[in-house]
Amino acid sequence: DLAGNLARAEAALARFSGGVTHRIGGRDIGSDASFETVSPVDGAVLARVARGGATEIDAAVQAAGAAFGAWKALPGKERRAILHKVADAIVARADEIAVVEAMDTGQAIRFMAKAAVRGAENFRFFADKAPEACDGQTLHAPGQVNMTSRRPIGPVGVITPWNTPFMLSTWKIAPALAAGCTVVQKPAEFSPLTARLLVEIAEEAGLPPGVLNVVNGFGEDCGRALTEHPGIKAVAFVGESATGSHIMRQGADTLKRVHFELGGKNPVIVFDDADLERAVDAAVFMIYSLNGERCTSSSRLLVQDTVYDEVCAKLAERAARIRVGHPLDPETVIGPLIHPVHEEKVLSYFERAKAEGATIATGGKKVGETGCYVAPTLFTDATNDMAVAREEIFGPVLTAIPFRDEEDALRIANDTDYGLTAYLWTRDLERAFRMTSALEAGMMWVNSENVRHLPTPFGGVKASGIGRDGGDWSFDFYMETVNVCFAT
Ligand code: NAD
Repeated sequence: DLAGNLARAEAALARFSGGVTHRIGGRDIGSDASFETVSPVDGAVLARVARGGATEIDAAVQAAGAAFGAWKALPGKERRAILHKVADAIVARADEIAVVEAMDTGQAIRFMAKAAVRGAENFRFFADKAPEACDGQTLHAPGQVNMTSRRPIGPVGVITPWNTPFMLSTWKIAPALAAGCTVVQKPAEFSPLTARLLVEIAEEAGLPPGVLNVVNGFGEDCGRALTEHPGIKAVAFVGESATGSHIMRQGADTLKRVHFELGGKNPVIVFDDADLERAVDAAVFMIYSLNGERCTSSSRLLVQDTVYDEVCAKLAERAARIRVGHPLDPETVIGPLIHPVHEEKVLSYFERAKAEGATIATGGKKVGETGCYVAPTLFTDATNDMAVAREEIFGPVLTAIPFRDEEDALRIANDTDYGLTAYLWTRDLERAFRMTSALEAGMMWVNSENVRHLPTPFGGVKASGIGRDGGDWSFDFYMETVNVCFAT
């Protein structure tokens, strides 16, 4: 219950009372400068965090470089064993990770408990692939045999956002380590605490010092130094599309390989032949869980005009019943948004929506006096040219737009800069084939909310990303493929 979770959180957060340092080469390293990470529940300071810059990044890259030789030389089976121990240790401390994550991000504990376990699954999945990660193929031609193989690219940089930092960190770091790379991570400054837990857990479980290093700081100096450092061979980044552009520019001089998981303005498209109850449930889940601070959220609801009013009415009714509350309350679905700065951004869209002529069917306001709480919101009577239909709001805010027919649905769905996910609801299989072959998105679900299967490719098209994660795709990024030709 809430009281129990609050007590657990207090105990878990007490360990940060002396401040959060960087972790470089298996040692705690401080900085002269620092910043505070605050609770979105009430603005209380959770911890003072060392603020690193180019000096600390350089030290971490040296450490990752020094550790690389031995880590890549370790047989894949041994890397597998260590990474499974990391997964075991994550499971053993999942409750602690979940309460810290909920307090640092404002995400509801019911989702963060699962996210911690999912972090362990990411480690297990990629651990099991470590022994074969180097395997290639032989390619024959008259007078030659070609042998391909893969080798880890070198020390890599991982830059993560604030929305679900623990799960996302594991999703990037586990395959890098399984591939034989060493890592320097720069976590988001709004929610740095669980990245600290992860490196501690990993080292306690047997990850050698220097294989994973964490430097805290801000994007414009600390993140920048990581992306510019010649000792870093590739950068895996999750965050905003505009930041991706910066990172590409910053990495240009050192010809950095980049992998980007960026923003989205994902459509959920509901035809009148769909199971409307299930479609509404899925739409509600995909925008109002994880505070709507989710790259794959369905932030545009495209509904066929014949059932638009019915679907919007059901949705508004369900949205209004969603429990907004303390992130540690097991009943809470929507917790406070990450930070007052982000809350202000989300709230600004309520005025904009009204000014542009949309109707606020439910929500559209702040909840309570303290904390970054925002009511689950539905805009109706919207068109796709409104700011609320074009910009990534990254909050529990859904924009419902009517469409006439298949062609109209496709036009509206694809009329966006983004292309991460799309969700399609119809019972007509031929239509589903036509639509999914023309929708511009990296990942699509037919008659389902977002369900993940780790061997499948994850990533976006257009402004939503470059590259794919998951399965073997992650190894393609963290490894170089090399060919040796033998004359026969
Ligand atoms: P952000 O781009 O502001 O920051 C992400 C990280 O980049 C932070 O660690 C930040 O410090 C760092 N950073 C900022 N400027 C930098 C620079 N110039 N050089 C190097 N690093 C820099 O994103 P955010 O606000 O933390 O996260 C929200 C965004 O992340 C949303 O757009 C969301 O859609 C996206 N996201 C995408 C996915 C996905 O898989 N596609 C998943 C989660 C979040």
